[in-house]
Amino acid sequence: MIYRTFTRAFSLGEEIWIIFEPIKKNVYVLAVWDAEWKSYNNCYIILEGDYITLLDCGKKEHSIYLIKALESLGKSVDDVTLLLATHGHEDHVQGAEIFINAKKYIHANERGKMEYPYPEQFEILPSNRNNIDDFDILLVGDHTPGSVAFYHRPSKVVFTGDFLCFFGDSLSKDGLVSQGNDLREAWLSFLHNGGVTGQHLKIFIEGLKGINRFDADAMCSGHGGVLVGDITSFVSELIHLGQEWLHTVK
Ligand SMILES: [Zn+2]
Ligand SMILES: [Zn+2]
Repeated sequence: MIYRTFTRAFSLGEEIWIIFEPIKKNVYVLAVWDAEWKSYNNCYIILEGDYITLLDCGKKEHSIYLIKALESLGKSVDDVTLLLATHGHEDHVQGAEIFINAKKYIHANERGKMEYPYPEQFEILPSNRNNIDDFDILLVGDHTPGSVAFYHRPSKVVFTGDFLCFFGDSLSKDGLVSQGNDLREAWLSFLHNGGVTGQHLKIFIEGLKGINRFDADAMCSGHGGVLVGDITSFVSELIHLGQEWLHTVK
């Protein structure tokens, strides 16, 4: 596949790393190292003709990097037409203010407790249909009650927010955007060792089943590594391990 190949990784001071990298044609990840939280916080840019969609928009203090990322694509904040929030935590919505031309959406379960001073700027995701533009919407409902996964049909990329993510983890040894087998293994052993329990586990498994109804070949989460290639097998393994654990504790 041919796409604009560039990677920008630059260090500001000792601890702050910002990586901006293509995932597929017209789909990009911005990963900002958050020294306070000791995690990469991710957001995503999708270009479709004159339309630019953001999947999450980071903390307010990281907006400068999102602006730089858009500029490197020849775009500005005013060009962003759609902002989809996976959930209402500050690291996913706080940067929304500068995107004045973007229609902004969040799930109904989430808007009342957004960590953002202007929740009224966000519209509620439609409940009478399961898509918006080229995105399928799936309420996964764990991590937060209104956590949503989005599936971008043209690129076959699924955005899982913090429902399934790599918060606080190092990047894969193969890079930010990679098959990420080390990250997959780490999640599988976390689950195998009882990392998700009780009611959370049941909701988690249902959410995973929903994700596997998509035909994703890349997985973009709220934090850390972006996985490319065969997402369905990985998610199936998670479902299998989760179900085993459910049966064990019964
Ligand atoms: Zn979160
Ligand atoms: Zn987060």
